[in-house]
This record gives sequence, structure tokens and C-alpha cells, in this order.
Amino acid sequence: MSLLTVGSVAFDAIETPFGKTDKIIGGAGTYIAIAASFFEKNQKICAVVGDDFPQSMLDLLASRHVDLTGLQIKQGEKSFFWSGKYHNDMNSRDTLVTELNVLEHFDPIIPESYQGVEFLMLGNLTPQVQRTVVERLNERPKLVAMDTMNFWMDIALDDLKQTLKVVDLLIINDEEARQLSGVSSLAKASKIIREMGPKYLIIKKGEHGALLFHGDNVFCAPGLPLEEVFDPTGAGDTFAGGFMGYLSSTGDVSFGNMKRAVIAGSALASFCVEKFGTEKLTEITQNDLEGRIQQFVSLANFEMTIQVG
Ligand code: AMP
Repeated sequence: MSLLTVGSVAFDAIETPFGKTDKIIGGAGTYIAIAASFFEKNQKICAVVGDDFPQSMLDLLASRHVDLTGLQIKQGEKSFFWSGKYHNDMNSRDTLVTELNVLEHFDPIIPESYQGVEFLMLGNLTPQVQRTVVERLNERPKLVAMDTMNFWMDIALDDLKQTLKVVDLLIINDEEARQLSGVSSLAKASKIIREMGPKYLIIKKGEHGALLFHGDNVFCAPGLPLEEVFDPTGAGDTFAGGFMGYLSSTGDVSFGNMKRAVIAGSALASFCVEKFGTEKLTEITQNDLEGRIQQFVSLANFEMTIQVG
């Protein structure tokens, strides 16, 4: 099938207890597209960069079957730049710098050739831009998924709630789920959030795995115990890209297949954190990924006979 990703393609500078980078390639759209490329060979991206963005990275995306027709390059302008510093727990981080640059007036233009796309992943952007993309598609995709963050809950909650009404799946972390729902139980939060619009909800719990909710069904994916976590930046986007890439490549949106997609996303995210930025994702092979998926399967697999009486 085909997958359209809308998201930031950007520069990041990251500081963790293990080291520090200068400007490296980042952006939610970049992580999503690279992760999805392990499964989906028919991808499209809608994004904006400045003329400072390296052609080599665009070539890398193109070599991974990502159609760049909808990537706007603004001459004389700078790409989005984000900088963050992780605390010692490697879970929480402070944003040090956000320079919107080209993202400030981003108008997500959908090329004619993108119409009819079957899967849509809305990376973390203003809820207004995310909604505009859905409105600009002539045909409703098979599945529309979105990511968001606390920032939009703080400054644009009404807008965010409107966007939630037009998506099928929301992918957020536990802290964001608690803020959006106003309750601390994730089971309760999942009901409250799904009443806001999305029929499906994924709550990521960092190193503790992820939960998928639909109707009365819940699936709990484990977190792979990793010996070294180097840089968590982009893990959430990588998860979303792996999830959507897998779904799109199979074309199957049943709950059973979504469980497999959660494992696909989790396996890719577990690689992402092992090096700075997108480095590890661009190094691994399909074999590495298959091996990691197998580890997840073994981790969660057990047999049990219940004897009553
Ligand atoms: P994650 O670690 O999954 O939350 O994603 C981090 C990525 O999101 C980084 O590569 C940033 O460039 C990008 N990012 C951070 N803040 C924003 C924002 N306000 N809008 C769009 N992308 C962002």
C-alpha cells in the first residue's frame, strides 16, 4: 500500500549523560520515514526544510523509497532546529532550544500525486497543520494516525481536541495520556481519550513497553531490557514509523495485525536509542531487525496450564 508522513525534517543538538552532539539530522518526519522504510517501499513525505539541509540526507530518504515531491525547500531560510538535554534517568529531558524557522509558516501542500494515499501518519506538529492535511486529502485513508505532545495540550488544547476528532489512532506517551485525560489510571485515561475521537490509542511507556487499546481489547507489548541506552531522541517517532510502515505494507488494520505492528515499532525504537540520532537506524539490516523482533516474541511468549480444584 502507501504511507504519507507529515512531520518535521530538522536539525537537532542532543546532550545525554554519555555525550553531546553538534547539529545532527533529526526531526519527527525523518525518524518516522526511516523506520517505516524497513517495511513500506511506497512512502511519501510532506515537510519543509531550509536551503541549509544536506542533500545527502534527502538522497538517503529517496534511496529508502521515500517520495520527496511534497518536501518544500525554502531558499534563503533555515531548517527547524531543536536542542534537548536528558537527565540522568534518560527518560526525562529539557528542551534547550526550539527554533521554528521554516516550520513557523508551514503550509502542508499535498501534491496531486499523493492523493489516494492509504495510510497517513501525522507527526508531532501544530494540531492545525495536522488537521489541514486530513482536510486536503480527497479520499479518506484507511487509517489516520497522529502523534502530539504536552506543549500543544498547554497552548492549543481546543485545537488539539478538534484534530483528535478526525483521526483514527493517537500515539502518545503515558505522561501525555495522563495530562490529556486528567486522570492517572492509564486504563481510565484510554477510555476518556477515545471518547475524544480516536477509536484506537497507543500509550508508550518508554522502557516499560507500550499499550494498544481498541474497544474492549488491550494489548501490552514488553519493553526490551537494553544494557545501554545512549540517546532516546526520536524513539517515539521511530516506534510510530515502524508501526505505520508495518501496517501499511500489510494493508491489514485488524487488531491482531496491529499487535504485530506494535512489536515492529518497538523493535525499531529499541535500536534507535542505542546511538545518537538516526545513526543506528541507518546501520541496521533487515536481518538485525528480524532478530530483534524475535527477541520481543520470546520475551512475551509463555505457556501455562491452569489447574482448577
Ligand atoms: P521524540 O524524541 O520522539 O519526542 O522526537 C524528537 C524529535 O522531534 C526531534 O528530532 C525534534 O527535531 C523533533 N521535534 C521536537 N520538538 C518539535 C516540535 N515542536 N515540532 C516538530 N518537531 C519537533
